[in-house]
Amino acid sequence: MTNKEFREMGHLFVDWMADYLENVAEYPVKAQVKPREIFNQFEDNMPTNGEDMNVIFKDFQEKILKGVTHWQSPNFYAYFPANSSYASVLAEMLTATLGAQGMLWETAPAATELEEKVMEWLKNAMNLPKNWHGVIQDTASSATLCALLSAREKYTNFAINNTGFEGFTDFRVYASSQTHSSIEKGVKIAGFGKENLVYIPVKENFSIDENALINAIEKDLKAGKKPLCVVATVGTTSSTAIDNIRKIGEICQKYGIWYHVDAAYAGSVAILPEFSFMFDGLELADSYVFNPHKWLMVNFDCSAYFVKDKGTLIRTFEILPEYLKTATDSLASGADAVVVNNYRDWGIPLGRRFRALKLWFVLRNYGLNGLQTKIRNDINLAKWLENEISQNTDFELLAPVNLNLVCFRYLGNNNLDKKLSEEALNEINAKILQNLNKEGKIYLTHTKLNGKYTLRMVLGQTNLTHAHVTQAWELIKTESRK
Ligand SMILES: *Cc1c(COP(=O)(O)O)cnc(C)c1O
Repeated sequence: MTNKEFREMGHLFVDWMADYLENVAEYPVKAQVKPREIFNQFEDNMPTNGEDMNVIFKDFQEKILKGVTHWQSPNFYAYFPANSSYASVLAEMLTATLGAQGMLWETAPAATELEEKVMEWLKNAMNLPKNWHGVIQDTASSATLCALLSAREKYTNFAINNTGFEGFTDFRVYASSQTHSSIEKGVKIAGFGKENLVYIPVKENFSIDENALINAIEKDLKAGKKPLCVVATVGTTSSTAIDNIRKIGEICQKYGIWYHVDAAYAGSVAILPEFSFMFDGLELADSYVFNPHKWLMVNFDCSAYFVKDKGTLIRTFEILPEYLKTATDSLASGADAVVVNNYRDWGIPLGRRFRALKLWFVLRNYGLNGLQTKIRNDINLAKWLENEISQNTDFELLAPVNLNLVCFRYLGNNNLDKKLSEEALNEINAKILQNLNKEGKIYLTHTKLNGKYTLRMVLGQTNLTHAHVTQAWELIKTESRK
């Protein structure tokens, strides 16, 4: 492709992108394809000769798009959103064009220093502890793994990094029964064994039972095990339950346990001062993660990871031998030494994308006010829906609506049906979900809370309005009655 062709196609693509985002609500939100339908469309081998971009683009529209679930549709209420925004997409185009690698300060000074700056911006806007250091990771899963590895190395004085697990067994990690699956994955990868992830029961509001946590720790200590890390959650995946950050932090302090807080989804709400109570005690945490790539309009991937002690993080991951360190860490020695960050040593991969750019674009283009307005609107929409459901005797809420996730189920027509069994209700609600998603007008997912099949509706998509939610609620009622 020539530069001239690139320019022409670029214009064409941007027009297509703007059209797509303008009309994204018209597509069936969940891809309506069967397994292998996309795969089987294509030749067994790659083309021998290069193909014209117009032909490739046509295939994208005809053969790929039908297999896409439209996460940027305002009719997307499933999982948690992976929001994008105009500012973020524009920045990604520049990031791809620069194709810079941010592994060292030397390889990408702007990527490194902008990352430092935007992490400070987030820290200040969200009132996070001043002494924390931030780094962008690809996902919360990676950030949590970094936390577990840091905890392991700190406790063993970096012995496992050096000589392996010999002499160290029985590490225990604690999290609530509602914790995200990435904790189990991290525990497995870190070498603790998933049987050493202790699931602590939750209270009625699905937050961790602190007394049960203390009992579990005491029991393990008596058995000669090593309580290593507690993971608390602000906004669990099933129901956005909020663990008591301060109480758990105090327990961790008492027993000398690493304290990791997973706020992957709900962390974005920290930009609203009226929700600061959810983060009370956060200064007790050793590490903290939240995903701007979920609710903060920065397209995937962009996960903000903060640590109290960056020395432990770097020592856990650094790959340069000691005798080479000053050459890259310090541009000058003595009193005017300038310390630079080499983010290669702050996480797992060596190569790093210039992710700070899209975060910077979004924070500037929305401004704090813009982001606050967006998040508040979503929470108000959820309040509206919560109210509708609580006043409708054919439905019931199954968890507190702490933020913008509404967990509910259909109970059957209150006037006609006799009381349905739990089993029947589970079946009926699974059927409702299946039919709604098949129709393609909205997309919801489910969870199970206390054994009850629960419809989850997250009101957070970038372009969501009250009209969309009203329409979706009408649809749910109609489908349920059917
Ligand atoms: C989404 C989510 C994760 C995982 O996030 P990734 O960035 O996809 O790894 C972890 N914990 C919670 C609470 C989440 O909501």
